[in-house]
Amino acid sequence: MSNLKHIPSSDPIYTSGSLHVEQARIAISDLVKDLITESQKRGESDAIECIALDQAINRILAKDLLSPIDVPVADNSAMDGFAFHGDCLGNSEDLVTLKVVGTAYAGKPYEGVIASGECLKIMTGALMPSNCDTVIPQEFTEPQSPSDGTLVSFKQNRVKRGENRRLRGEDLQSGKPAISAGRLLRPSDLGLAASLGISELQVHRKLRVAILSSGDELRRLGQALEAGNIYDSNRYSLIGLLKRLDLEIIDCGIVRDDPASLKVAFIDAASKADVLISSGGVSAGEADFTKQIMQELGDVGFWKIAMRPGRPMAFGMLRPTQGANHKTLFFGLPGNPVAVMVTFYQFVRSALLQLNGASQTEPPLMHAIAEAPIRKRPGRTEYQRAILGRGSDGKPTVKLTGSQGAGILRSMSEANCFVILSHDQGNVASGDWVDVALFDGLL
Ligand code: AMP
Ligand code: MG
Repeated sequence: MSNLKHIPSSDPIYTSGSLHVEQARIAISDLVKDLITESQKRGESDAIECIALDQAINRILAKDLLSPIDVPVADNSAMDGFAFHGDCLGNSEDLVTLKVVGTAYAGKPYEGVIASGECLKIMTGALMPSNCDTVIPQEFTEPQSPSDGTLVSFKQNRVKRGENRRLRGEDLQSGKPAISAGRLLRPSDLGLAASLGISELQVHRKLRVAILSSGDELRRLGQALEAGNIYDSNRYSLIGLLKRLDLEIIDCGIVRDDPASLKVAFIDAASKADVLISSGGVSAGEADFTKQIMQELGDVGFWKIAMRPGRPMAFGMLRPTQGANHKTLFFGLPGNPVAVMVTFYQFVRSALLQLNGASQTEPPLMHAIAEAPIRKRPGRTEYQRAILGRGSDGKPTVKLTGSQGAGILRSMSEANCFVILSHDQGNVASGDWVDVALFDGLL
């Protein structure tokens, strides 16, 4: 089947003008959906694997994780305090005095029965005795004199009946989904699975992602630089970006700007991978060259996207082996080092997650106050590099990191977020709220 309907380069509005970031995202997401449907139809057997819980961070859950137990498994205390039967409570400030008849610890329940007028000293997490329904926290009890012995007093209205007790099945009932399929597994998910006694998870297999850099000027680390040469930095930024997603990375190195080498490299990389990400060689001066090869290998659109940095980008699907089923999603990112990271953030990351079965693929946006004016021309989406901080009033603020040229990687390195200025937005005044995307997720 042809996927050209998804690849707007054949449409004159895209070749003459610029493609809106949102249109590009939709086209990418549509093609990914098609690829998923096709692979499901083929019933690919290696699509899911069962792995140990401690290996599952950043993987994507393939099936709903059903809880085998109620959580909590039994009623227990939410506080350190005293458990009793709530009959004795009321609306007044009158004191209730109860006799402490024993202690229950987490993991060491109290076996006896608590009679009227009695209570049990209880620790957080300890099982509630069967005939108690309320816990008065330690700090809500009246100061005791040594002569009070084993008595404890508190005002009747200090707690309500049933408070400070966690009920069996309150968080989760047996048989209900604890984590839904499609979750990108985070530390809390591993903890949650462990709390249910689950030691293995069914996850989607790791995506195989090939990367290559193209350009005659590029040199590998360790090589000498001659006039006009630069080190290939994009592959390293990409490796870092991909490692955050826990994928299998196939590093295909540097390729020269000549059609024969490019073709061989693209076929080789695409045939080994689910996704191929290249950088360089898609800007106006070089695209014709790459386009010709892509026409032979698959359906690829060459986009001018209304964004800065990152205007030129190629996107589509390659069929490296004639007649075979294997299709490779292809991103031809621009060569500029910042543009590589911006286009990865805006387009590639979500597509990789979607292709790997994730249900939530968009990174969250937040808002912060611009510390200084930002110049912005309506008609394109801009990604300015910035540092998110906090003003003296405690509100979040952002400050740009110096010169914002697309080749200035230091502006990225010093930043901890993008300020994202939307397509129609104009100049930003100092004190305006702007959209911000943090580079790092903490939990
Ligand atoms: P291109 O998109 O190939 O026209 O490249 C645009 C700019 O990015 C040029 O200045 C290239 O030298 C630079 N560039 C391309 N690829 C890389 C790379 N892998 N590492 C660092 N800079 C690159
Ligand atoms: Mg180039």
